[in-house]
Formats: sequence, structure tokens, C-alpha cells
Amino acid sequence: MPSVSRTSIFVRRAFWVIGGVIVSVVLVMGMTLASLTEETNRTATQDQMSRLESAVANELTRAKAELAIIASGDAGRGGIRADERNSITFTADQLRSAWHHFGFVSAHLLDTRGQHVTGVEFGQPASAAGFRHLHALVSHLLSATVESVARQSPASELASPGYEQSLGHAGLIHNGFELAVATVVPVNPASGRMPGFLVALRSLDSATLADIGKRYGLGQITFRSGATGLPAFAVPVADADGDPIGFLTWDQARPGSAMLPNLLLILMASVLAVLAALGLLVLRLRGLGAAMALDEERAERLASHDHLSGLFNRRSFHERLEAEYGRAERTHAGFALHLIDLDRFKDINDSLGHHAGDVVIREIGTRIASTVRSVDVVARLGGDEFAILQINTDSVHEAGALAHRIREVLAAPIIIDTVEISMGCSIGIALGPILDVDSKGLMSSADTALYEAKNGGRNRHRFFERGADKTTSLRTLVENELADAIRNDQLELHYQPQVSPDGLRIFGLEALVRWRHPVMGLIPPLQFMPIAEQRGLIVPLSKWVLRRACEDGMRWAGLKIAINISAAQFKQPNFARDLLATVSESQFPLTRLELELTEGMIVEDEEKAQGAIAELRGHGVSFALDDFGTGYSSLIYLRRFSFDKIKIDRSFLEAIETTGEAAILLHSIVHLGRALGLTVCAEGVETTEQHRFLQAIGCHELQGYRFSRPVHASEIDALLNRSEPFDLAA
Ligand code: C2E
Ligand code: CA
Ligand code: CA
Repeated sequence: MPSVSRTSIFVRRAFWVIGGVIVSVVLVMGMTLASLTEETNRTATQDQMSRLESAVANELTRAKAELAIIASGDAGRGGIRADERNSITFTADQLRSAWHHFGFVSAHLLDTRGQHVTGVEFGQPASAAGFRHLHALVSHLLSATVESVARQSPASELASPGYEQSLGHAGLIHNGFELAVATVVPVNPASGRMPGFLVALRSLDSATLADIGKRYGLGQITFRSGATGLPAFAVPVADADGDPIGFLTWDQARPGSAMLPNLLLILMASVLAVLAALGLLVLRLRGLGAAMALDEERAERLASHDHLSGLFNRRSFHERLEAEYGRAERTHAGFALHLIDLDRFKDINDSLGHHAGDVVIREIGTRIASTVRSVDVVARLGGDEFAILQINTDSVHEAGALAHRIREVLAAPIIIDTVEISMGCSIGIALGPILDVDSKGLMSSADTALYEAKNGGRNRHRFFERGADKTTSLRTLVENELADAIRNDQLELHYQPQVSPDGLRIFGLEALVRWRHPVMGLIPPLQFMPIAEQRGLIVPLSKWVLRRACEDGMRWAGLKIAINISAAQFKQPNFARDLLATVSESQFPLTRLELELTEGMIVEDEEKAQGAIAELRGHGVSFALDDFGTGYSSLIYLRRFSFDKIKIDRSFLEAIETTGEAAILLHSIVHLGRALGLTVCAEGVETTEQHRFLQAIGCHELQGYRFSRPVHASEIDALLNRSEPFDLAA
């Protein structure tokens, strides 16, 4: 049986697939999250960078605007003015105001060539040295502003309000100590002369930077000095010559990174949830899978095994045979195929009921299975047919030995409800593989051999021999043509004499039916009677036999004619009446008619059997118990049915040659039969020894090949018409 079922494989696969999907989903989500974080961070940084840039630009513009307002202020109200004498007037308020606004202010007057003429300063630069340094930077801005003014014309434009601002310049400078916004605006640019200039510095100390940062939502803005290593996101600060001296940067907020832990947490939580759900699912599936695997195994077992015996069934036996066939062809190892058919199993079913039949089948199955080796394959093919695949067997000897053992094992009595049954069996054996024959062919070869075994008188085994094949097709033939054969008078009755123990007198004739087939020749009854039963042809067939026997019997005055009655026929509701009607057609005297019944037939429905027997006996019909010794064998029990004769089965004669016990048994049967007032007839007498023995123990009648085979009616005529007395045993 498959230990790993398809279901559990499926569950396992499903597990891996779902697991794989989850892992990839997690990977993709992780990667997406990483790039999302990166992207968020990048845009945030760019946004902050541009905010810093505009903060700086705004700071510069604001400084210029404030300084321009101070510069353009009305002189009367204390503005700064360059008068005709190139002097600059500052009011105290003005300077205070500028100082207040910028922290450091200086006013300058240049000559026509742009040379510095005079200037004042107000406020405190960081230091004297700082200022000197600063001066260089301021002059840079100054000259830019001078150029701007010079380029402007006409002068009227310069007089328009706000021009101070537009002509001014502002920039970030560093004096070596601190950062500042430096602003230069022209004073009175419309005067037509070289103007004065107002210069202001506003320090950008860390408090101011912090303030700006807050206003622009940037956190702390810091200045980092250094000529190299300008980061990607920073506003550079240069000295007067444009050389970098540092940069402005800020506490970069990274919102992507900030949200990452939260997102990761959510991701982890959902993965855990999915994993938990998956775990539960897998557990459920496992349970389900196990249950389904069990069901599957059960179904598989049901499909491949026979439910009654627990052995393989026909289908799986064929599969195994096929496999073995292939293997044997490759390895050149042989095997034997045994087909086993129980003899007269039908009688048990008919007489003791199906329950008893089932018990027998089960018991037989167990016995066969425990007789073979573990590698061999045992199957119940259906009904009372079993099969063995004997693996690794080349020799006829080994196969024969197994068949012999099987027959011995099956022959041991089976007890059902205190009734003791002994089962015979017929075995057909084919050795495989056979060249040019497939497993099916081998099967039919074994079938042919089985037919041979049954035909040979049952309770034996036969090997398939080439040439015997023609019987294989018989079954099909019988099934198809039997009905026509009965109708078309293709059947024949042969008669076998029942003689006195000395072989000198004929008491009666047993009628035995045959089928003369136009192509197949003479077909023996065992090959078509069972099929006739299965096909419901037993009634027309028996009628034919009875009619013909009575017609033939008319010519043999004084001889009893024995007719075999089949179980199916006996079971017919109007058996007795129909029989009497048929016999009456021919005027055959009923007192010469002997009916042969088997034990099974009467045991099945005792009452009915007793009734039918009594009715026919009333008309003078006598009864013989056929095949005695193969069934229940209780003569005392059978006495009630008032038989006239017992016919001891042929198998007893076969057995006396091998065992002394059988001889003793046979002796006591004859003895008992005689004591009960029954005529004792022995069947199947073939040899002189058997003849002598039966004669010695007191049999009344003998029947068998030793005296005559079943022969055509005309031969019986010839036999009876001989002038001198004959000795059939001679
Ligand atoms: P059965 O009633 O036991 O018939 C005796 C069988 O033993 C016959 O086989 C006969 O040919 C065979 N026989 C007789 N003497 C010897 C012998 O010395 N050695 C051996 N080896 N065999 C011997 P057959 O004719 O093949 O018939 C087989 C069975 O078919 C019969 O067994 C009987 O059960 C059944 N049968 C035959 N004719 C009829 C019939 O007309 N109606 C019914 N219902 N059954 C029949
Ligand atoms: Ca018979
Ligand atoms: Ca018989």
C-alpha cells in the first residue's frame, strides 16, 4: 500500500508553494519599503535644501531692503546723504537705527575714479583684525555695486524709488570668526555724481541661524567651516576670492527613515499573522490530509483487494502479473501462474447458504496465503477462483510441489456450525514467460490447464501443454452457441454401464451428455454444464437429456437408466411434475428411472427435497446419491431421504492407492451402506487392483473405464445383443 499518499504529497506541495509565495511577498514588500523610504528621504531632503536656499536668499534680500530703506531715507529726517562737497552726513538716529538693524554699519564716499575718499563706521565688527579681513570682502561687494550703478542710465531711473535696493548687492561672508550677511547699497544714486555707499554687516550667529531654521521648518542650521568636503545637500559659503571656506547645513529630517520602523513593525506583524494563519491552515490540512490519505488508502485497498478474502482482486492481480511478466522477460527468471478452482463450491453455497460460502472462501484464502512464500502473489479472481503468482520459479517440479501443497492444505476439513466440510480443488498451472505470449495469453493458458484438471476429474493439478489451447476458446463458444446447440439437437447422450462386481452383468446405464460441436468436436459436460447453469439453459438442457434417455431406454428392457440431475434443475418449482410429464411422453417405465442427486442439492432445502423425492418415489422412481464422500458424508443423516443407492466418488479410489486410511474408510462406507440397506456403487473403477478391492469389500455395483467408457447408444445395443455371455472386466 502506498505509505505516502497523493493527498499528503499535495499538502506538502501546497505548503511549499504558499511558503514560497509568502517569502517572495515579504521580499518584495521589504524592497518596496526600502525604496519608498529612500525616495521619501530624498524628496524631503531636496525640499529642505530648497527651503534652506530660499531662506538664505530671503535673508540677503531682506538685508538689502532694510539697508536700502535706511539709505534712501530723507536727509531732513536724518537720512544719509552725500552732499556737493563729497561729505556724508549721518544723523545719530540713522546710525543707531542701522546699527540696531545690522550690528555693524559703515558709510563710504568714493571719488570719480571710484577711489575711496572717506568713510565712517558704526558698530562693532568682531575684532579689528576681523574687520580688516572683512574690508576686503566688502570692497568686493562695493565694486560690484559701483559697476551696477555705472551701468544704469538715464539718471532719472536711478532716482526712482527702490533703486537703491535693486542696485545693491548682498552676500554671505565669513570673517574668520563668524558668518555674516554683508550688504552694500548706493546712497543717492540719482545725484549724477559718484554716490556714497552704505555697507552693513549682520552677523549670522548660531542663535540667528536657529531662529531662521525654525522659521523655515529646518531645525538647527549650522555653519561648518572647511575648504573641502562639501556635502550633496548644503549651501556653500565662499571667501572674497570665491574660494570655498565652508557651508551651511541643517539637521536633516529623514521622514522616510522615521516611518520605516513603524512600517517594518506593521510588516512584521502582518507576516507573523499570515504565518500564524498558514500554520493553522497547515495543521488543518495535515489533519485533513491524514484523514484523506486514510480514505485514499481505504479506497485504494477496496479497489485493489477482494473485500471478502482480503486478497488481491482480479484487477490488481493482472497488474502484478503484467509487472512480473515484464520483469521476468528482462531478468530471464521464470514464474508460475496457478489458477485454483474449488470443486463443488457451488454446492456449499446452495446447501449451507451464502454465509457458509463466505466462511469457506475466507478460510481458503487464508490457507492459500499462508502456504505460499511472502514474495508470491495470491488473489481471489472471483467466485471460488483463486490465483497464485509463484515468483522466481523455473521448474515444473517446484510449481507442481506448490500445487500439491495447496491441494493438501485445502483438503483439511473446514467446520461450519458443527458441519465438517472438505474442499477439493483443481489447479491449472502455466509457466511463464512464454515466447510470443503476453500475460493475457498466459492467463488463458493457465485457464486451459485448469479446464483440463477439472475435466480430468477434479481435485488435481495440470500444467498447460501446448496444443491444449483449443479449450480456451471453448468458454466463449459455449456461451454463444449452447442455446442453439440444444435447439438444433447437437447434443448427444452417451451411456456408461453399471456392472456387477464380477463384471458379468449390466444392471443399469448412466446417461452422460456431450456436445458434438461441428468444429470443436465432442465437448465434455463439465465444460458446458456450469455455463448452462449460469445462462439459465439448464431447464431446456435437462429436458433434452431426459427425453432422449427415455427414448433410448425404451430399447433396453430391464435396465435402469440413471440420469444426472443438476442443482438448478432440482430447484425448479415444478421439478417433479415437469419430470413426470416429460417421461410420460415416451412411455418409459418410471420404475426403471434412477435420478442421481448430490448431497448439496438435498441439504439446501430439506423439506422441499423430501417432498419431491417422496412424490417421485410414489411413481416408482429410484434415487442415487452421486459423488458420495465429497460432501458432508453423514450416511445416518442422509437416510431420511430414502435413497436407494450411494455412488462412491471416484476420488476415493484414487486415494486408496496412496493411503491406507482411505481404504479403511472406503471399507466402512461400503459396510455402513450395506447395513442401511442401500445399494453401494463405486465409480471410476479403472484398474484391476481397484476392481479386486471393491469386489472384496462388498460393493454391489461397479462403474468405470475398466468395464466401459461412456459410449454411444448403438454400442450399448451391440454389447447387449451379443449371443455369448460377456465379461466386461476381461
Ligand atoms: P458424474 O455424474 O460423476 O459422472 C461420472 C463421470 O466420471 C463422467 O464424466 C464419466 O465419463 C467419468 N468416468 C466414468 N468412469 C470413469 C473412470 O473409470 N475414470 C475416470 N477418470 N472417469 C470416469 P463426464 O461424462 O465427463 O461427466 C462429468 C459430470 O458431468 C458428471 O459427473 C455429471 O455430474 C455431469 N453430467 C454429465 N451428464 C449430465 C447430464 O445429463 N445432466 C447433468 N445434470 N449433469 C451431467
Ligand atoms: Ca452421475
Ligand atoms: Ca459421480
